[in-house]
Amino acid sequence: MKLNDLKVNMDYFHMDTKLYQKLNPRPLKNPKLVSFNKTACDLINLDYSECESKEFLEFINGEKSLVNQESYSMVYAGHQFGYFVPQLGDGRAINLGAINSWHLQTKGSGRTKYSRQGDGRAVLRSSIREYIMSEAMHSLDIPTTRALAIIDSDTFANREWEKESCSVVLRMSPSWIRIGTFEFFAKTQNSIENLIKLSDYVIEQNYPHLKNEDKKYEKMFYSLVDKTALLLAKWQAYGFMHGVMNTDNFSMAGVTIDYGPYAFMDYFDKNCICNHTDAEGRYSYNNQPYVARWNLLVLANALKEICDENKLIEYMQIFLPQHENVYLELMNKRLGLNAVKSGNNNLDLILELLGALESSKIDYNVFFYRLSSLKSFNDLSSILDISVFQEPLKNWFVSYEKVCENEKSTFELRIKIMKKINPKYIIKNYMLQEAIELAHEGDYSLVNDLLEIAQNPFDEHKKYEKYSKPTPMEFANIKLTCSS
Ligand code: AMP
Ligand code: MG
Repeated sequence: MKLNDLKVNMDYFHMDTKLYQKLNPRPLKNPKLVSFNKTACDLINLDYSECESKEFLEFINGEKSLVNQESYSMVYAGHQFGYFVPQLGDGRAINLGAINSWHLQTKGSGRTKYSRQGDGRAVLRSSIREYIMSEAMHSLDIPTTRALAIIDSDTFANREWEKESCSVVLRMSPSWIRIGTFEFFAKTQNSIENLIKLSDYVIEQNYPHLKNEDKKYEKMFYSLVDKTALLLAKWQAYGFMHGVMNTDNFSMAGVTIDYGPYAFMDYFDKNCICNHTDAEGRYSYNNQPYVARWNLLVLANALKEICDENKLIEYMQIFLPQHENVYLELMNKRLGLNAVKSGNNNLDLILELLGALESSKIDYNVFFYRLSSLKSFNDLSSILDISVFQEPLKNWFVSYEKVCENEKSTFELRIKIMKKINPKYIIKNYMLQEAIELAHEGDYSLVNDLLEIAQNPFDEHKKYEKYSKPTPMEFANIKLTCSS
């Protein structure tokens, strides 16, 4: 379809006007296309060739709108690092309506009513990170927002140490409603009617099967608990750390949103913190499932006026067991073991592995890839050679071999299971940093190449063999700041 034939659905305007501000984006100077994403084009039936047009650039930059499109930013509240903030909102994101149930939003389109002290801009570095990572997550089957395109410009913003060029990334989500959106009405507006309207909207958009059910709001909560348990299991199994799991960054559709100082863990460390401003490690790797549960409790609290509180408490209790089940199932697959079939979740083996990975100091995801590439148990050198201390992993392999023998699975079968779940490439922060540095010089080739790798992480990428190796020690588990 041509850009001009795309039809957007503006149904958020049925909601209370307190929930949004209609406004126009503020375009950047001399916009330049950095990259567009064909798989995202497919989701909204947009012809690829359209993305190379001047009109497309103008569309991303907010100079041109689609038929029937009106732009708006949304208000929400949220708990940030545990403290309630009664009013937040899209301080630099502008919503453009939905196509095929994908809600389009440009990030970095200028100040809004909710910008507080911010300039409404997103610097190129942060847009590149979000653009590539959301696609990397999707390729690993981790629920996430997607990204259609990214532009750079000659508008500059002041950040910590220098002026940086401003960009816009167009991102798409099954919903931009956050737990914080519910908190806004429940905590600050005292409006049951609006809470019901908001819940009905979320059900319509993301849980349509519940529309005519009894106790649909309780069931919506249950569905989100279930989806979030699955989401967190996937984050944990791949070593993904979000970095800012505030309730305003937590989606009502159960997908990863608002990529900030996130990281895929390099060297395994259960207490790893990727956010420089998170001194106490509230959002450390190990804490993530517990924070997700806490966030869901905040939602339960916001919903209690329109729900049976006992049901919410009952549903809340499935979170941790469900999370653990899915996590263990994934970890078994990462080891080539068929936990469901054998009726044993191999918890001890997995806990022993995590301890061994931590004490051997080894790149977490590279370990799994190399495990999937072993030729036999007689030669573990490809793994031991990349660990600082070899003994812990050697010992673990003794336990692993025993479990494999008991399962009576073959070496080939295990490799087959592992090859589907352990990618050769995981996008790490140091790779993104290389792409960002080149992009600052006007060379966007690595952004596009990393996108290709992110979208096909199980394939060979001969030119980038180096990115399948462990993260160089000097770049491992670096903390990033929120400023973006
Ligand atoms: P985050 O933790 O990045 O999701 O952001 C928290 C809040 O700050 C959200 O309401 C954002 O819209 C807002 N925000 C972050 N950066 C900016 C900026 N440069 N200008 C305006 N608002 C911002
Ligand atoms: Mg946010």
